[in-house]
Amino acid sequence: MYMLKPPFKIKVIEYTPGAALTRAKRARAIARAGYNTFLLKSDEVYIDFLTDSGTSAQSDAQKAGLELGDEAYAGSRSFYHMEKTVRELFGYRYVVPTHQGRGAEHLMSRICIQPGQIIPNNLYFTTRRFHQELARGVWVDVAVSEAHDPKNTFPFKGNVDIKKLLRVIKRHGVKNIAYISMEAAVNMAGGQPFSLDNLKKVRRISKQYRIPLYLDITRIFENAYFIQQREKGYSKKTVREIAREITLFSDGCTMSAKKDGVVNIGGFLAMNDRDFFRRAKEEVVVFEGLHTYGGMAGRDMEALAIGLKEFSRDEEVAYYVSQVAYLGKELRKRGIPIVLPVGGHAVFLDAKRFLSHIPQEQFPAERLTAEIYLESGVRTMERGIVSGQHGKEPYDGLELVRLAIPRRAYHREHLDIVVDGIEKVFRRRKYIKGLKMVYEPKSLRFFQARFAPVGRMK
Ligand SMILES: *Cc1c(COP(=O)(O)O)cnc(C)c1O
Repeated sequence: MYMLKPPFKIKVIEYTPGAALTRAKRARAIARAGYNTFLLKSDEVYIDFLTDSGTSAQSDAQKAGLELGDEAYAGSRSFYHMEKTVRELFGYRYVVPTHQGRGAEHLMSRICIQPGQIIPNNLYFTTRRFHQELARGVWVDVAVSEAHDPKNTFPFKGNVDIKKLLRVIKRHGVKNIAYISMEAAVNMAGGQPFSLDNLKKVRRISKQYRIPLYLDITRIFENAYFIQQREKGYSKKTVREIAREITLFSDGCTMSAKKDGVVNIGGFLAMNDRDFFRRAKEEVVVFEGLHTYGGMAGRDMEALAIGLKEFSRDEEVAYYVSQVAYLGKELRKRGIPIVLPVGGHAVFLDAKRFLSHIPQEQFPAERLTAEIYLESGVRTMERGIVSGQHGKEPYDGLELVRLAIPRRAYHREHLDIVVDGIEKVFRRRKYIKGLKMVYEPKSLRFFQARFAPVGRMK
């Protein structure tokens, strides 16, 4: 059996008008969107694998929670419910809500980074790195080298290279390190986990040098599930117990609640240090909202409290990860190059091997997202040179297309349609040409950049 038992049945459905679109209409839509899938209208899309962010299906209990949300400007009951849940699950003393993950990253970066300070990271997440740099910090990669190699099957590509980390600390001096930043289920490496063994080693260094360790726990439950499945000594522990152990070895975190929190919008930062908390409360009112809502509606805080509890159950995470594994396995069976091992929330196509005749300056991954949309109405995302390169900085070289599966939202039939469409693109790959960029926004260019085909769309 490929996929595990879904621990739920369906009560509400949503029609997808994009299912009825013809290929000719899709060709016009993607041209109008400048060959950037971010600029398509959702009604032009059939199966939306652009992101798992804010797009998951909520449970009946969460929907009921939306009605129960307390919209009081100050001291909302729903905030206290959310705060209690975060404390219970992750053990941090203080919780500050924000409108979404980048709001939390903004506050953490503003407060914890002095200009010129270094922040060692296991690869990067776009917005996290952006906010580190906006605060005039210097992002430095200390991920294991396996993380950069899409063909390498190392089970913990989210790990930090301990030697690299020590080298960075020695070279720059403890005072010049703002904090160590570690992302769970690292998106840029393909949704790859770190091991608890590695986290403990990083923690030892953080304690020894008194450098704070802050996690990005956006996808902590997938990371915990992989630890349960892969790391010695954890097979008998629940996802929740492992998640709790992860956060125990850190000083604080940011979370985009739109992923493992299973809500449409929301996020938070959490910490143990009272001074950091005091500063975060001061800053949150300037940029987000009062410290008991931080840009979230009461209803969303209520749904988040319930969503975190639900999605940290073993059967929920296990089923979700098995859907992703199924998609990966079916693509591999057809010879389609993907990043291995398959990650927690997404399958990543390796565009460098898929479209090996297109040079990277012609954006093979971006072109591949356009071709997949054209073929089957499936929306995916570029994770390559468009989203990876910032100005003249060295770039990690990955050229991927991400198929992120929203939680609880799609059937196996949908997955099969996605596989068929990609297989068709794969068969005609040698006729596909590259793109040229015709508009480049100043920051986070992948969201709004526009392209024109070098060759004709087939
Ligand atoms: C989505 C995400 C963020 C940013 O959160 P938003 O809610 O989109 O602002 C940060 N880190 C990771 C790992 C994410 O997946």
